[in-house]
Order: sequence, then structure tokens, then C-alpha cells
Amino acid sequence: MLKQTIDPQALWTEFLSLARNKVSTHVWQTWLLPIQAREVVNGTIILAVRDQFFRDWLCDHYLDFIRDHLSELAQEQLAVDWALDPTIKSSTEIAAAEESTDLLQESPKPSEISFNPEQNALYTKQFNPRYTFDTFIAGPSNQLAFAGSKAVAENPAHSYNPLFLFGGVGLGKTHLISAIGQQILQDRPNARVIYTSAEQFVNEVIAAVRFSKLEEFHAKYRRHCDVILIDDIQLIAGKVRTQHEFFHVFNTLYDSQRQIVVTSDKLPHEIPDIEERLRSRFQWGLIADIQPPELETRIAILQKKAESDKIDLPDEVLHFLASNIRSNVRELEGALVRIAAHASLTGSSIDVNYAKNVLQDILSTRPAQISIESIQKTVAGYYQVKMGDLKSASRQKVIVRPRQVAMYLCRKHAGASYPELGARFGNKDHTTILSACKKVTSLLKEDPSLRSEVFALERKLDISEPG
Ligand code: ADP
Ligand code: MG
Repeated sequence: MLKQTIDPQALWTEFLSLARNKVSTHVWQTWLLPIQAREVVNGTIILAVRDQFFRDWLCDHYLDFIRDHLSELAQEQLAVDWALDPTIKSSTEIAAAEESTDLLQESPKPSEISFNPEQNALYTKQFNPRYTFDTFIAGPSNQLAFAGSKAVAENPAHSYNPLFLFGGVGLGKTHLISAIGQQILQDRPNARVIYTSAEQFVNEVIAAVRFSKLEEFHAKYRRHCDVILIDDIQLIAGKVRTQHEFFHVFNTLYDSQRQIVVTSDKLPHEIPDIEERLRSRFQWGLIADIQPPELETRIAILQKKAESDKIDLPDEVLHFLASNIRSNVRELEGALVRIAAHASLTGSSIDVNYAKNVLQDILSTRPAQISIESIQKTVAGYYQVKMGDLKSASRQKVIVRPRQVAMYLCRKHAGASYPELGARFGNKDHTTILSACKKVTSLLKEDPSLRSEVFALERKLDISEPG
């Protein structure tokens, strides 16, 4: 059987992540980070370093460590051989380049650059022209994110920096971050706005390291950049080298008052395997969440989309779609487009029955109603309390919050009355349920961590706001 080939760079990146927790930061930065993995031939990995001294020091101190851990990660015994490459930078040179204020002195502000229409067109081309503020429907579920994004677009680096947009799949994160970029380019045609996904950023870091193009990489992201927009930043989890680079990009841009915007499907404290110093930086500015839209917002989104795509839909069909597809705007739009395409191909007119038929597969996967018991179970599991605790009269804080959240979710999603819920929560008075629901509703407005808990629970239950 053929052995799987080993990708030396990927293996080395994994090694760096592992080594990070096993050696001091000083050793890691000075001795391990500058090493470049070149190739693996016949069970030997070739590591390139800048000179003999560097190689000898590593052989004296870390050869076993490197070889053993690489072998373990590769799941085969590897030998280590060395190549010398004087163009490889030492850690102090890397750091000096990273910290260099020359980077900034050489980097004029947008107002000092003469307008270059070609540049502007190139930056603009990064975006989907449909994703603007004009086409975004604002509602209670996305108000803060929408207002925060507008403020940043109007006044980059002077309102919220960084802006951290957080929300579930298909709720408009990419739309909003693109709207910010396009608006800035329109109002400040000289601005150098870079939009990238975290995935692409990771790939660029790997390529820069592999082909010794770090300087170009630094120039692109730190010298020739006024606004950086990174989509789905949660994907840098576990990517040590990328986090290292991003940390320096962040610092350089932040210190020179340039705007940073990221989106994520997790809150900073929920992103696993990410350096603490990055996590805390994400919290320096504004964290704005996007929740699944309410019924009215869903209807408005559909109307706008139908209008712009010139789809003629009766109100009752629109209402039917908005009531049945609740947690993901992308799916909602997809359903609309699918019905319209179907109708135009078959020449049928669209009514609710027709829509039901066309969307059979999507709609049948949704549970009609969630039971009180399944909500209680999910909440108990999430907060790690007992089902009995939720029905008890305990006043302990660790129990009161889960119990109130469970009551709120049951009221919202199980379609049960207050007295019925009272009975199901250990024979409580209906006013207890009522005040719990009120309490949670009002806390949700001011407590982002409660919002994220409720949101996570709704995702677990595969529900959102009912129609
Ligand atoms: P995410 O990046 O959060 O997964 P997207 O930004 O890709 O989601 O949004 C999915 C689709 O839904 C896009 O076509 C977007 O235009 C649309 N969309 C999401 N929220 C809204 C909104 N509030 N108003 C209008 N369109 C929206
Ligand atoms: Mg997206």
C-alpha cells in the first residue's frame, strides 16, 4: 500500500501549535518560528535554517524534541536533516520588521494619496454588489449590528474599533461586512480596503511562509491597508502561525488608527484554540450580534428580494414562507427563488398549496412544535443542572437563571399557556412564569451573554422565533 504523502508545511504548522505549549515563548519565537520545513524525502524531513550556528544550537538542544514530536504527528518515524538558507530571517529581524514604525511612516493616510480609479475598482471588485446597506433590512434582531456597521462605515477607526459582528449561519454577516467595505470605498475613494475570509488569510500566511514572501505579506496587510475586513474569523482557531501574523496586523492597524472589522459565528470566548491576547483584543471595540429575524423582518426581506428579482408573489405565499422558514435568511431567499423558478418553468401560478408542494423537502424536516419536556431537557443539559432543579423552588443563582430561561423558551416555542407552564414547572403560579418571561425578555436587551446562551439553545433545539 502506498504511504500517504506528508505535507511538510502542514506538518510543521501542527508542530508549532503543539510546541507552543511545551517550550518557553522565547524559545518558540527565537528558535522554532524561523525554521522552514522544505520537504519530506524517504522518511527524512528537511528543515531549513539561516546558518550553521542556528542549526548547531538546535541540534544540541532541540533535535530530539523536534524529531520525536514530528514523528508522532506524522504517525511514522521521521529523521531530521538540515538545509542552510541565508535568506531566512532571524526572529529579531522578523520582530523588527513587525514592530517597525517605518511601516507606518511609509504608509500615507487615504487623504494623502492621489485618487487612482483602477485601484478603487480593484478594491470594489472584492465585494458582491448586492450586499449594500440599501438592500439590508434592519429590524430588532440585527439593530445593533446594523447601526454599528453604519457608524464604522461613516467614520472608520473613529467609532468602534474593532467591530466584531457575531451571528449564526445565513443571518447577514457577510452582507453587512461587505456593505461596510463598499460604503467606505464610495465615500473615500482613496481608501485601501482589504476584504478577505479567514480561510483565505490562512492560505496566504502558509504561502508567504512557504515561499519566503513574508515581507510582501506584511506590506499588503500592514503598510498598504487602511481597512481590513475579515469574514468568519473563527476559522483561525488552532492556526498558530496565522494567529501570530494576524496579531501583528491587528496591532499595526489599530495603533495607526485604521479600521478592523471581523465576523464570526462564535463569540470571542467561544472560539476554541485562540490566543488569549487576540481574544481580548476582539473585545476592545464593539461586539454586535445578529439574531434570527422576527416575522416582520422576514416578510420585509422577502418583499425586497421579490421586488429586486421581479418575482410576483401573492401576500399569502410570502407570509407562508416567512412563517415556515425562520432561522436562516439564506434558506428563506433560496425558497423564494426556487418557487419562482419552478413556476416560470411550469407556467403555473403561485399559491400556498403550490409553495407547499415545491418546498416539501425543506418544510418536512422541521418539527411542527417543540415539546415542553424537550426544551426542559435541553436547557438542563446546557446549564448542567437537573430536570428536578428546573421544577424546584430553589433560589440559588445557578438554578434560577436556567429555570427562567427554560420558562421563557417554553412560552416562546411550545405554544403553552402560563397556567399550563406553571403546572409543568412543579405546580407554580402562572404569575411566576409570567414574571420569568418578562425578566428574560428585558435582560436579553442588555446582556449579550444571555443572548448568546438563548441563541445557542435555540440552535440546539433547531428553532428560532416562531411566526
Ligand atoms: P452569513 O454571512 O451570516 O452566513 P450572509 O450575509 O451570506 O450570511 O446572508 C445570507 C443571505 O441572506 C444573503 O443573500 C443576504 O443578502 C441575505 N440577508 C441576510 N440578512 C438580511 C437582511 N437583514 N436583509 C436583507 N438580506 C439579508
Ligand atoms: Mg458569511
